[in-house]
Amino acid sequence: MDKISVIVPCYNEQEAIPIFYNAIGKTAEALSDVELELLFVNDGSKDESLKEMRELAAKDERVKYVSFSRNFGKEAAMYAGLSYASGDYVAIMDVDLQDPPELLPEMYRSIREEGYDCVATRRVTRKGEPPIRSFFARRFYGLMHRLSKTEIVDGARDYRLMTRQFVDELLRLGEYNRFSKGLFGWVGFETKWLEYENVERSAGETKWSFWKLLVYSVEGIVGFTTAPLMIAAFMGIFFCVVAFFAICFIVIRTLLYGDPVSGWPSMTCIIVFLGGIQLFCMGILGEYLAKTYMETKRRPIFICKETNVHE
Ligand code: UDP
Ligand code: MG
Repeated sequence: MDKISVIVPCYNEQEAIPIFYNAIGKTAEALSDVELELLFVNDGSKDESLKEMRELAAKDERVKYVSFSRNFGKEAAMYAGLSYASGDYVAIMDVDLQDPPELLPEMYRSIREEGYDCVATRRVTRKGEPPIRSFFARRFYGLMHRLSKTEIVDGARDYRLMTRQFVDELLRLGEYNRFSKGLFGWVGFETKWLEYENVERSAGETKWSFWKLLVYSVEGIVGFTTAPLMIAAFMGIFFCVVAFFAICFIVIRTLLYGDPVSGWPSMTCIIVFLGGIQLFCMGILGEYLAKTYMETKRRPIFICKETNVHE
């Protein structure tokens, strides 16, 4: 009998966990021919999430949990889930039911019968999301599409079902700065995309502030393309060329018309403008350097404080 592990990252989700457990229970009935493992990852929650998990684990042996020593972020939680999961197939699902569990049987069938290695999902709408958040998300995917060779799909969720082979390859990407949406694309394999309309949270509220998302998007860009470095270099060349022609122009004009000292305001503007460009380019460089620095420390991606996986 096949075994499916469902990884559920949770951060302060005490209300959502029981609702999720009920919903996935119904899905499990539809998947009567497979064994299910529910792997909750407690990402340093400050509420009673861990207690909920322990209680579920006590009454249902399909429930496993891994609890972190502090909040390491969803990326770390997903990585931990992947490394602890024992199933032949592994799914990642949010606890807030924004990733409909009803899709799981269909995903499983696609892998078993149609021979895909992975079935992923994407939202075709962003209904119920703040408009500026959607706007910046769209811009981000547009930019990534142009800058990076790795396929990163607009509206892609982390919700997907993968084969054991796919998971093992993902686990080999042990980088510290993780951007899973890119990593999934990077490993390749045949992926089928299912589409669905955005669903609103079952309980609690989103854990992603605008700032957190912005930082995450920089992670995505720095992690999957070095194009910004090239853009900085081209910008340098462009300004050298402009400066060259400007110098020629000034020399010729001075020779022809003499040299009244003028142009102080324009000079200041140019200096400030170029100073800005230089700082901007240094910032880009610094971002790559910082990521390299963090990566060379080889710190663990997460620290597990408590688990019942090996019991
Ligand atoms: N999450 C997590 N660690 C964090 C932030 C979020 O494990 O630091 C989990 C959260 O519990 C949820 C999932 O990641 O299961 C998605 O988070 P959320 O629903 O807040 O994000 P959104 O759906 O709004 O993008
Ligand atoms: Mg959510």
